[in-house]
Amino acid sequence: MNLSERDIQYNWHPYTQHKTAQTHIAIAKGEGALLWDENGKEYIDAIASWWVNPYGHSNKFIADAIYKQLTTLEHVLFGGFTHEPAVQVAEKLIPMLPDNQKKLFYSDNGSTAVEIAIKVALQFFYNKDEKRTKIIAFENAFHGDTFAAMAASGISFFTEAFRGSLIEVVRIPVPTQGNEQASYDALEALAKTGEFAGFIFEPLVQGAAGMVMYDAAELDKLMAICKKHQVFTIADEVMTGFGKTGKNFACDYLTEQPDMMCLSKALTGGTIPMAITTFTQELFDGFYDDDVNKALFHGHTFTANPTGCAAALASMQLLEAEEMQQNIKRINRQHLEFQQKIQNHARVTTTRVLGVIFALEIKTGEAESYYGNFRNKLYNFFIGKGVILRPVGNIVYVLPPYIISDAQLEKIYQTVEEALEEC
Ligand SMILES: *Cc1c(COP(=O)(O)O)cnc(C)c1O
Repeated sequence: MNLSERDIQYNWHPYTQHKTAQTHIAIAKGEGALLWDENGKEYIDAIASWWVNPYGHSNKFIADAIYKQLTTLEHVLFGGFTHEPAVQVAEKLIPMLPDNQKKLFYSDNGSTAVEIAIKVALQFFYNKDEKRTKIIAFENAFHGDTFAAMAASGISFFTEAFRGSLIEVVRIPVPTQGNEQASYDALEALAKTGEFAGFIFEPLVQGAAGMVMYDAAELDKLMAICKKHQVFTIADEVMTGFGKTGKNFACDYLTEQPDMMCLSKALTGGTIPMAITTFTQELFDGFYDDDVNKALFHGHTFTANPTGCAAALASMQLLEAEEMQQNIKRINRQHLEFQQKIQNHARVTTTRVLGVIFALEIKTGEAESYYGNFRNKLYNFFIGKGVILRPVGNIVYVLPPYIISDAQLEKIYQTVEEALEEC
């Protein structure tokens, strides 16, 4: 039996209907922007393995930092204890964030980072005996798959089965072109009721919705409305964080500052699962009391795992390096050139670019579902050509590792162009 066959005897894969799923490709090795399967076939990882891997697969610098940490202190509980890597990550990260961010809480993945932000928003008001129990989120948002994160997510077939068990979330339109006023009006109407504890959003780019983009100025207006009505703003930068938008964080494009930020994915360069939620002093102080019951009773066994922290520290060092910053600019320039070239193609409806993110919508004549036939045809076409791209319906996006070479990026563009002719 080959690896793919051994795999399906036991493994249950994410977002997968196993009855109709194709063979899972067994990857044996990764280096830089490349992956090789068990038969030696080469793939370009054009989506940085679900957006986690900006610095390349099997990165030696991060691996060395992890090894050193593993052989010094691999793990210690974070309840009642602390350690150098957890403090160093905080000391490095906090100055990179909007300057109202003062405290951070470690967890394991993007969903838990969101879960913690939502719990903090709700309990902040509970601690003050104020009844604010609902959350505001965007249409078609994605914030993760645990219960509060799922409740905030608006991609309905992900969450339909659990509808009765979710916290109350009310959705507003995304302020994309033409929808700005509807978005402000909807938010204002909700925020002024005094029933909402927080507004959670993916700043500037909704990743899982298909890299849907909207302007910083619009988000600033929405955040100002929240501020006016004391609704906490939660910037879910799990996807956008650490350079994807061309700045370290999407929030760096804003004038307003969020009350909380959720970080994961690229935090550890795709090595060790870890997440961080950050907070203003005001939020932290809402739990700071002689009464033990006002504490945040949340934690995970691996909270602030030292090895994960060492990986995060090494990753942030790589991000800051001049060479990496140049890579981000280079990819952005190439995306813009490709956009120029392709945007008038007869089969292209729209294109959009921000930072290292490029997205293009293909004209198909009919509404395309998330995992529909056309999407599968595109996916298989790309895989056949040795390029890993996972279209969302009829939207093809590219979000490569920052260390991708010009030639590899060119091959991705070429393959997308071929798909427009052949699919
Ligand atoms: C991926 C993602 C999450 C969930 O992160 P997981 O690590 O998969 O739990 C949350 N928010 C956004 C914006 C994401 O892109």
